[in-house]
Amino acid sequence: MNIQFNPLNDQQINALTSLSSGLTREQTIWVSGYFQGLLASAGTNKIQASPTVIQKQKLTILYGTHTGRSKTIAAQLTGKLAGSGIEVQSVALDDYKTRQLTSETQLVFIVSTHGEGEPPAMAEDFYQFITGKRAPQLPNLNYSVVALGDKSYKLYCQTGVDIDQALSRIGAKSILPVLKLDVDFEDEIEHWINEFAEVFIRDFAPENPVSQARVEGFTEVLYTRKKPFMATVLDKVKITGRDSDKEVYHVELSLEGSGIVYEPGDSVGILANNPSGLVNAILSHTGYTGCELVQVKEGEFSLKEALFQHLEITVLNRDVLQKFQEKTGNQPLLEIISNEYQLDQYLYGHDVIDLLEDFPFQFSAQEFVDILRSFPARLYSISSSQSAVGDEVHITVATVRYTRKERERAGACSSYLADQIEIDSQVPVFIEKNPAFKLPENEETPVILVGAGTGVAPYRAFLQQREANNQKGKTWLFFGERRFHSDFLYQIEWQKLLKDGYLEKIDVAFSRDQKDKIYVQHRLIERQKEIFEWLNRGANIYLCGDMKQMARDVQNTLLRIFETEGGMTEEKAHEFLKKLKKEKRFQTDVY
Ligand code: NAP
Repeated sequence: MNIQFNPLNDQQINALTSLSSGLTREQTIWVSGYFQGLLASAGTNKIQASPTVIQKQKLTILYGTHTGRSKTIAAQLTGKLAGSGIEVQSVALDDYKTRQLTSETQLVFIVSTHGEGEPPAMAEDFYQFITGKRAPQLPNLNYSVVALGDKSYKLYCQTGVDIDQALSRIGAKSILPVLKLDVDFEDEIEHWINEFAEVFIRDFAPENPVSQARVEGFTEVLYTRKKPFMATVLDKVKITGRDSDKEVYHVELSLEGSGIVYEPGDSVGILANNPSGLVNAILSHTGYTGCELVQVKEGEFSLKEALFQHLEITVLNRDVLQKFQEKTGNQPLLEIISNEYQLDQYLYGHDVIDLLEDFPFQFSAQEFVDILRSFPARLYSISSSQSAVGDEVHITVATVRYTRKERERAGACSSYLADQIEIDSQVPVFIEKNPAFKLPENEETPVILVGAGTGVAPYRAFLQQREANNQKGKTWLFFGERRFHSDFLYQIEWQKLLKDGYLEKIDVAFSRDQKDKIYVQHRLIERQKEIFEWLNRGANIYLCGDMKQMARDVQNTLLRIFETEGGMTEEKAHEFLKKLKKEKRFQTDVY
């Protein structure tokens, strides 16, 4: 290196030249950060090399996850920092002792949000602590938050946002602003990990990098949303009766040659196309030809192709409405967005054509697509066990169809599977792990399975698995649907499992076979004494299906059962439910 100016004496120049020769790029970045740190901490005084600058070399990544995606990001970040000399450890939030917080200097939080702003079960206690009065002051802590969420929900990424605000309130300093991730985030997270690693290595890496990063429980995923596997459709059967007012399909896909491994409880992600009728309707409504070239996340496409394959058009969400409003300045739309009730009403059942009809505006094709959301993959709970079906994966899909404003509408993925896919078609898929919905490790543990509608799907996988392992008994299924004769999904299979002893009990609730509705929770109440006995014997209880109504009502029913059968107060019943969740004895797969 040629040092042109001369504030240093010969000895200092020699020392600097000798230090800088042979440095790697990362070491150079660190040395530069080191001197900047010295300068910043010394003000105008003579600089003393302060050991505190180089002691900051530990990073703890805390993750809270339901599906396992936060854990995967934690592993990716850990891998990225391997070799930087930073001691990285990655810990699940339910294994983390909050008393350690005051001794931390660098933390990364990777946490998802569920439903209406709720933390995942494993992050609940930490969340209560850090947002509550007992949280200590943390002036020495530097942190970053990665918040996972889904923009269709009102309180998008709220858990991460709340943790970020709580940390800032108690004096911690953020390294990078909170990163909010919508469902398809592969590119964004890659970019963030690179940026974070650069900043972190610059500011905190030690002098002699040694690989100390620990990557635990992380296996490379072969196929992802970005790189799906093309699965061939082996079978597709409508499993609701001819006179049913529901249309539910059982679909079998081949995974042959993929090497994909999944477990009962996991989900399969499907990258569908939009209904072509809706794409054409948008084109004729707007007057675009469809040949206009537009840029979307995946690259440059004709508008028609982008609408068909890459953009969400069958549903709206708050973010799309907000972008639309900002672009158009439309006042009535602003009023809708500002009122939660009106916003919910507007979002329910409306699609992109409704928005264009209700608030007309002339856009360029590019401006139009910039407002829309990228088309997210749809996830379905797997209804098969690989121990029983080998290189196949089965799903159970209810087709969403309804008519509104005299226009027939359909759910994007469910209608893709119902209308566009036939036997031998190829479907782009990937597996989404769901570690929070798993059969107990101890096969002696009894299981109570509660599911309404297609929420019964994962229980077919659970029971196939138990049958393959020859585990008899200790299984109790509560199933709810509309009508016995047309909607009893997989009826013959349950009967055979009962006969063979793999299913010990089944209780069914057909809501529309009589004047008054009968739901799964009514059956739970009828059986409450026995249910409580099963729980006392250590049973796990599972709940799968609609999140908005069913899951809430079933949970309230369980609380009532704990009060009645366990003699608990309301408060104790809540504590008991929380304890079951924490011990992974109450697991839910609801959306
Ligand atoms: P659904 O619409 O949830 O209906 C199934 C049964 O539940 C019907 O008998 C319905 O009765 C009843 N029900 C309605 N409100 C209820 C309540 N508050 N408590 C208890 N039961 C109630 O069935 P679906 O169309 O099959 O939808 C299933 C839901 O599960 C969807 O929200 C889906 O997203 C979710 N899910 C699906 C999967 C999957 O892999 N496919 C996995 C997990 C979750 P009435 O209609 O007669 O009132």
